[in-house]
Amino acid sequence: MRFAEIIGQDEVKTRLRMAFEEGRIAHALMFLGPEGSGNLALALAFAQYVSCEHRTETDSCGQCSNCRGFANHQYPDLYYTFPFFNVGDKATTCQDWMKDWREFLQRSHYGGLDEWRDSITKDNKQLHISVYEAANIIHQLSLKSFSGRHKFQLIWMAEFLKPDTANKLLKIVEEPPEKTIFLFVASSTENLLQTILSRVQVIHIPRIQDHEIRTRLVQLGATEARSTEIAHFAHGDWNKATRLLATENPDENFAIQFQTWMRNCYKKDVIALVKWSDMMHAHSREDQKHFIQYAMDQIRQNLILNYTGDAIVRMNQGEKAFADKFAPYINDLNAEDLMDELNAAYRDISQNVYSKLVFTDLSMKVHYMLVRK
Ligand SMILES: [Zn+2]
Repeated sequence: MRFAEIIGQDEVKTRLRMAFEEGRIAHALMFLGPEGSGNLALALAFAQYVSCEHRTETDSCGQCSNCRGFANHQYPDLYYTFPFFNVGDKATTCQDWMKDWREFLQRSHYGGLDEWRDSITKDNKQLHISVYEAANIIHQLSLKSFSGRHKFQLIWMAEFLKPDTANKLLKIVEEPPEKTIFLFVASSTENLLQTILSRVQVIHIPRIQDHEIRTRLVQLGATEARSTEIAHFAHGDWNKATRLLATENPDENFAIQFQTWMRNCYKKDVIALVKWSDMMHAHSREDQKHFIQYAMDQIRQNLILNYTGDAIVRMNQGEKAFADKFAPYINDLNAEDLMDELNAAYRDISQNVYSKLVFTDLSMKVHYMLVRK
């Protein structure tokens, strides 16, 4: 992947290139950015840039044998680690999942954990990065470089490194073999081990800007109007933007859903709320989670609208029309509690709690928070 293929993120690219040119690259980097921001894509583009035989000031060439190795995800001096699950009783490592992983990358460099999990299991199996993988990493990095250039150890979803695995890696992360660079990729620091964080140089990656997403969607053939609409709902997440592009824009339904739900919560229309919970239950776990994310974003936007007016608020016309009436009900007394409850529901859905109950229970709590004075 060349830098040119990455959507937006010009500042991050410039910083990476400059740091490399000036020899300021640490031997352990953490590409930290929200899902869909291109954290993995940037790590891969950076490794390719460093490895390219004919790189220019701005990008890798895309033509040399090393660049071609990156293009088909077969570059021999780039090792991948990612969350997986064990196969049978044997000591499973990422090597056992490499075929699936390459196919996953071939589809997109912006895929998230849900896409990865869905591509390797239909059950709700728990993924992890096992201690065997730590031994595998140490072994791989002891091998001689094929290219005579840098070796890279990429660790996608570094949040999955638990103390037992991480502890085995601390020494090699701190003092890797010569010309070895660790590329950690993570979405948030929340679940990252301090022992890892303290040993890496963090590259902060923001959400992609709306206009960058819009431009790329237009290049892909979407109309201006639809691209603007999708960019709005995607909120800087390219993974989400491509998902919306492939469907009938479910977020438009989300908006209507959310508004009806809030009205029924406020009125405490129990029959309507139970019906709504049944309807939500029929959706996939992923759709349920996306809806909750949308609801959280709307609560946040209504709070902003309530306190600062519409100068910095992110809403389209339909959302704004609803918010003009709804925003006064979202204030500093209930916003935090609403977010906490939505977060808790999101967690419950992720952990396969019976969603009918989650949504009914959530609706009642939302009612009391909305009417609280
Ligand atoms: Zn090249």
